Amino acid sequence: MRFFRCKITSVILSVSITAMLLSSVHMPSVNASKPVVVVIDPGHGGSNLGTDYLPIPEKNYTMAVALYMKEQLEKYQNVQVFLTHSEDIDMSLEKRAEFADKVNADFVFSLHFNMSISHILYGSEVWIPSEGALYSQGYSAANEFLTQFEDMGLFNRGIKTRIGSKGTDYYGIIRQCALRNIPAVIVEHCHVDHNNDALYILSPEKLKEFGVRDAEAVARYFGLVSKDGKTDYSGYAPLAVPVPSNRVCNDTTAPTHVSANLLNYDKTGKYATVELTALDAESPIQYYSYSYDNGLTWSVLQPWTKGSPTITISVSMEYGKKENLIFRAYNLYDKSADSNVIRLTSAN
Ligand SMILES: [Zn+2]
Repeated sequence: MRFFRCKITSVILSVSITAMLLSSVHMPSVNASKPVVVVIDPGHGGSNLGTDYLPIPEKNYTMAVALYMKEQLEKYQNVQVFLTHSEDIDMSLEKRAEFADKVNADFVFSLHFNMSISHILYGSEVWIPSEGALYSQGYSAANEFLTQFEDMGLFNRGIKTRIGSKGTDYYGIIRQCALRNIPAVIVEHCHVDHNNDALYILSPEKLKEFGVRDAEAVARYFGLVSKDGKTDYSGYAPLAVPVPSNRVCNDTTAPTHVSANLLNYDKTGKYATVELTALDAESPIQYYSYSYDNGLTWSVLQPWTKGSPTITISVSMEYGKKENLIFRAYNLYDKSADSNVIRLTSAN
């Protein structure tokens, strides 16, 4: 049973006029007399390793990036930067939020690195608060981070909310900060368990790039000016996100429709051209894959053309005994549905 009213995340893609009328549009306010207070939260620490897929646990990566981010952000005027912790210690999420509250944080950026149980996902994503002005601030800041990561060549897995069983924010740092009216976002830089992303964490230089990009995202969001005056974001307008009237919920269901239509089968070149349609009213489609063996094994996930219900693709049929094709489409929350089977033996 649901005790709360939800709007699905993708609603933001087509912001309703009602929401616009009901609420003010968020713009971060920078008051020259009062510095912006930024709290960077290196995810995990102490006995809480975070993702331990690699020999080096996630907590080491988050701390390294946090220190680089702080160093870069302190090159700007009018900003005070704190870390929730700078030593390798256990610290509860509540304590992190309490710390942010104590220093009057304007924003908490919780830094993380991801992995998926299936090891098939790749890319960056940002989790944000699910309601009110915190949602708008979170969405706007998250957009800056993902723009930076896309610029580095990472796949953009989107801006997301997640609701727990009590109908509030699932993630503790977001929930604890929301209780104190502080916007907090979880920045999942990339997937450490996927080849596409692994090269982004290979060296200290690579981690530094994340730290610098994170700082740039924050500088843009708050419209900061560097101390040497060479970088000036004071005229920069981050994405204005209307305050939603209801809690914005995650999509918990798979795409409602996936279909594949064979346009052409080139027997000489051995490739099939297929028109693939995937529909999901609740969140956008972001990956697809295909199988030659009725879903026993699948290709590496391919990026879906964002915002398009139908894409046309060519699939090589060259290797092995490949007589049929089936497609799988994934939405923003990695829920998937499969297409009809295309039988190439009966084609042409
Ligand atoms: Zn983490």
